[in-house]
Amino acid sequence: MAVCEVCGNDYDMSFEVIAAGTTHTFDSFECAIHRLAPVCEHCGCKVIGHGTQVGGQFYCCAHCAREAEGVEVQDRV
Ligand SMILES: [Zn+2]
Ligand SMILES: [Zn+2]
Repeated sequence: MAVCEVCGNDYDMSFEVIAAGTTHTFDSFECAIHRLAPVCEHCGCKVIGHGTQVGGQFYCCAHCAREAEGVEVQDRV
């Protein structure tokens, strides 16, 4: 049993995620995403999946990266 570090829920199906050498404990993927997922610099949505990284900024898709950076960015294939 472990307590979720986002919502404080004490849940017997909680799990741990190790990110950048730090162990985080969550009760759900929703909480894990809330805590760990980067936020798109353009539209503000959570970046779940690979997303696009330009100059250290995260974007949810190549469209947002293009809008924000004004450069030509391709979605990873
Ligand atoms: Zn939680
Ligand atoms: Zn976006």
